Amino acid sequence: MPLQAPYDPDNIFARILRGEIPAVRVWEDEHVLAFMDVFPQSEGHVLIVSKTSTARNLLDVEPEALARLIAATQRTARAVVKALAPEGFQIMQFNGEAGGQTVFHLHFHIVPRWPDRPMKGHGHAPMAEPEALRALADRIAAALD
Ligand code: 5GP
Repeated sequence: MPLQAPYDPDNIFARILRGEIPAVRVWEDEHVLAFMDVFPQSEGHVLIVSKTSTARNLLDVEPEALARLIAATQRTARAVVKALAPEGFQIMQFNGEAGGQTVFHLHFHIVPRWPDRPMKGHGHAPMAEPEALRALADRIAAALD
């Protein structure tokens, strides 16, 4: 899948945004959605997507949508840290299949990290139970400023 391929309106995140398939939502506004990664690389792995942009990756996103996305990522990361008390966290963002991207609707990952808990591999983590994700999402949402 080349970096410049056209946007597929039926990619999995577009379908989540349209409510066609379920997702455990943390918070949203008219511009962005934060939801739990269903194959979490660590406990509390959250994804942030734009609701308005059909950018596939960092190269083609409009600056205003990117600004909203990164501000939402920072807001969510603060809540993740407050709620789950990781000792660190990673912000990840993959571009193109060769760059590790698997869903071609631009998104940022927040992956909380603890020194004694190894991070699972990207694309190799087991699927989480929706109830466990909902409980984490509720804790993170309650910690939002
Ligand atoms: P990428 O590889 O594109 O950077 O990240 C895509 C992310 O989406 C992966 O971390 C993967 O676990 C997650 N993912 C894939 N399918 C679904 C899904 O149906 N629901 C949710 N919530 N996450 C998904």
